Amino acid sequence: MTYLPLARKYRPQTFADLVGQPHVTTTLTRALEQKRLGQAYLFTGLRGIGKTSAARILAKCLNCAKGPTPTPCNTCPSCAQITQGNSLDVIEIDGASNRGIDEIRSLRETVAFAPTLGAFRIYIIDEVHMLTMEAFNALLKTLEEPPAHVKFIFATTAANKVPATILSRCQRFDFRRLEASTVVGVLSRVAKAEKLKAEEPALYAIARAADGSLRDAEVVLEQLASFVDGTIREPDVTALLGTVESELLVQWMEAILDRDATKALTVLTAQIEQGKDVPLLAMGLLRHVRNLLILASTKDTPSRETLLAQLVDEPSERIARLDTQGARSTPEELVVILQMLAGAYDLIRRSPVAQTILELAIIKLATREQWQSLDALSRRLEQWAPSVADAPPALPRSTQPARSSTTPKAATAVPVQALTAPAVDAASPSPAHSSEETALSDSLLATWASVLGQLGSKKMSLAAYLMEARPLRLEGAILTVGLPGFALHHEVLSEAENRRLITTVVSELYGASLTVEYTTLPAGSEESAAPASAGAAAERSGVSPMVQDIVNLFNATIMDRPSAT
Ligand SMILES: [Zn+2]
Repeated sequence: MTYLPLARKYRPQTFADLVGQPHVTTTLTRALEQKRLGQAYLFTGLRGIGKTSAARILAKCLNCAKGPTPTPCNTCPSCAQITQGNSLDVIEIDGASNRGIDEIRSLRETVAFAPTLGAFRIYIIDEVHMLTMEAFNALLKTLEEPPAHVKFIFATTAANKVPATILSRCQRFDFRRLEASTVVGVLSRVAKAEKLKAEEPALYAIARAADGSLRDAEVVLEQLASFVDGTIREPDVTALLGTVESELLVQWMEAILDRDATKALTVLTAQIEQGKDVPLLAMGLLRHVRNLLILASTKDTPSRETLLAQLVDEPSERIARLDTQGARSTPEELVVILQMLAGAYDLIRRSPVAQTILELAIIKLATREQWQSLDALSRRLEQWAPSVADAPPALPRSTQPARSSTTPKAATAVPVQALTAPAVDAASPSPAHSSEETALSDSLLATWASVLGQLGSKKMSLAAYLMEARPLRLEGAILTVGLPGFALHHEVLSEAENRRLITTVVSELYGASLTVEYTTLPAGSEESAAPASAGAAAERSGVSPMVQDIVNLFNATIMDRPSAT
């Protein structure tokens, strides 16, 4: 018997087997029943969620001896050949392999030939957005006057890169990201059929790491099957993938909620010693707090179980434990923690001292009552209120500089000539072109991460105050730093000794003798005032989809604007 990878062996062969895309299969089924056939179809969505499988099933539907039918027989010669991948009537072209020039040329030469066995010649073009302009033009000519026996099925992970002239000739189907519970369902079936023993938390850990891609999940399951002797458990998965065990995240969060900074740091250090990646650890904690927040916010939702299966990527048996932990906090407090972690994560991703930043964030979270009185917390929530209610951002308050924000320029300004080796391009201040602006703010922020790291080694408490601050602009010899709107932050950071220390480190790392000025960070940004779709917003801002999901979910604001590169 020939060896087949699991993903191929268990590839869905009918629309009924295709999971997680009911909107696609229902529409196609109805169209096939009514014999309303399109000339070209476009399947778009993330990788590994069934686009190519759906394309092959559709090809079978069209060319089955009983077809066109939504339920191909899977036994006639045409169906059998398509399953085996050797049908002469179904031509698969990989747009990514050589950008399709030769294939599209031969497509144009062969497109007129009649099909051999089925009713149609079907061209499946995978990653169609990768085709060259030349190939697109050739394709377009065929699409404009296709012979009646020709069908096209395009698959792409980036429909926005497909020319509009092609898109306009296609019936488009958007494939959805698969929920963790859906991926786990398929993995359990595969495991059972393969006589593999795997615990549910292990399957959830695989699904989380695969991030919605069923194919990736199946590949991981297969790897585990080959090196785990006996039952596959969650630690096997996290050891293989370098991810973090859910139980450990519970303990980590427990230490934070206990205000036990030492224990929280010990957990972190132990993980790093095991070789865990700092951004993955931060992302793990972020995800955990997000889950707690969802649980806490859906307490009284009628169809809670269904909702949780969609939103929380943890097995149902763990939900009770998370519920207990979530009950130790309030949704308001969890939002604050999440906001802090999201801000820290963004710095961690670009910092050479990622571990220090994460340590700072953990210390800050575990000692947060000292930083953030209830009064400050409620003021902060008050600031968020307008954007939550979808009202215009409270501009007058947010743009108002705080009491201590302006340093008298005459006393402290350094002549521009004193800047011998500026680390960033100070010659293009805010009115510059937007991409330059982004590059500038990116460079400012990258150095800022180092500033935090170095300050952390000199005076941890000071660095902790600056965790929520962001460099806004560097004009001449003045670095303007935005602070959250708490009077406490402004007071502490403006104390003479602290100011001196900050100025020293900032000047050293930005490579010029600088003066630091403080201003108040705006409470909201355009994104939160007019939320776009998660994907588009994520694409635009370059933040990870998960952070963007969180931002969208809670209508929160990322405190800086990372560039898309
Ligand atoms: Zn058939």
